Amino acid sequence: MTVLEVRTRGREEVSDITADVAAAVARSGVKDGLCLVSVPHTTAGVTINENADPDVKTDILSALKHVVPASLPFRHGEGNSDAHVKASLVGSSATLIVEEGKLRLGTWQGVCFCEFDGPRRRQVWVKVWGEKG
Ligand code: ZN
Repeated sequence: MTVLEVRTRGREEVSDITADVAAAVARSGVKDGLCLVSVPHTTAGVTINENADPDVKTDILSALKHVVPASLPFRHGEGNSDAHVKASLVGSSATLIVEEGKLRLGTWQGVCFCEFDGPRRRQVWVKVWGEKG
C-alpha cells in the first residue's frame, strides 16, 4: 500500500491527486487490475470528477454548502458536523481500473481529494492489486 500525504490549505477544498495516484500505480508494477483509493478520515473524502475546468471543483463545494449548511442544528459537540455529512456524501473511497499499467480514467476525469474541515495534514491510502506484466 502507498500512503500519500495531502496538505490542505483552506477549510474546504477539492484538490487533484490524479498524478500521485497514477505514480503509485506505476510503482506497483501491476499491469492489469484495480486501484483502491481510500481516505482514512471522517471529515474528508474522495470523488472522481472533472479536473480540466477548476470551476467544477468550486461548484461542487458550493453545492455541498447549500445542501449541508453549517447553520443546521447539529448535535455533535466538535462543531464540524457539516464536514462529517459532506464527507459521507462524497464517500471515502474510489475504485479504479488499471489497464496496461495505467489508471483507466475518462478523458475529463481526475481523482479529487475533498477536504471539508481543513487546513490539515491528510493521508490517502492507495492499494493496487492485479496481474503484473
Ligand atoms: Zn467532528
